[in-house]
Amino acid sequence: MNLILMGCPGAGKGTQSAKLKETLNLKHISTGDVLRAQMAAGTELGKQVAALINQGNLVPDGLMISMLQNIISTTDQGVILDGFPRTVAQAQALDDMMKRLGRQISAVVMIDLPQEEVVKRLSSRRLCKKCGKPAATATQAACECGGELYVRGDDAPQSVKHRLEVYRQQTLPVKEYYQHSGKYVEINGNQTPDQVFEDICNVLKKVK
Ligand code: AMP
Repeated sequence: MNLILMGCPGAGKGTQSAKLKETLNLKHISTGDVLRAQMAAGTELGKQVAALINQGNLVPDGLMISMLQNIISTTDQGVILDGFPRTVAQAQALDDMMKRLGRQISAVVMIDLPQEEVVKRLSSRRLCKKCGKPAATATQAACECGGELYVRGDDAPQSVKHRLEVYRQQTLPVKEYYQHSGKYVEINGNQTPDQVFEDICNVLKKVK
C-alpha cells in the first residue's frame, strides 16, 4: 500500500503518519523532516533551503522531486508520503516515478481542518527534539519520551500566515489533481487524533 497524506500545515499529517506506519507497516516519508534533518546537520542542502523554510516558502520542485526519487527508489516497502506532493508538478513527477517503479498510489487522504483551528494549533505547537511528536499539553516541560520540546522556526505567526497562503495557492490545486482519480478521500481533522485515525483506518479498509 502507498498512501499520500494531504492537509494544510497543522492538520495532523505527522501525528497520523506515526500511527499509520506502525499499524500498516509502511515507511513514513516526511519531506519536511528530511529537510529539517539536513538543516540540523548543516549540510549544503540544509543551508540552501533554510531561509525558504523559515519564511514559509516551498523548496523548488526540482530539488524535492530528486530527493523523493532517491528515497522511494531505495525501498521496496509501501510508503506514507507526508508533505509531498505540494505542487501539481510534484504530483505529475510522482505519477511518472511510480509508473517507472511499477508501483501505484493506493489512496490520497486529505485531512480537512478549518483555518481558525489551524492557526490555533500552530501558534501553540511544541515538538519533541528526540521523537518528533507534538507535546500533548501546553504546560508540560518535556516530552513523555524525555526529549526536549521546541517551537519550529516556521511556526512563528508571520510564517504561519504565509504558509497558509502558499498552501492555498500551490498545494490546493493538488487536491483538484487527485479529486477525480477515484483514490481521493476527505477526513474530518477537527476531532481527537484517535478519532481521525479511526476514520482513516475505516476508509483504508476499502482500499486494496
Ligand atoms: P512540513 O514539515 O511538511 O510542514 O514542511 C516544512 C517545510 O519544508 C515547508 O514549509 C516547505 O518549506 C518545505 N517542504 C517540505 N516538503 C516540501 C515539498 N514537497 N515541496 C516544497 N517544499 C517542501
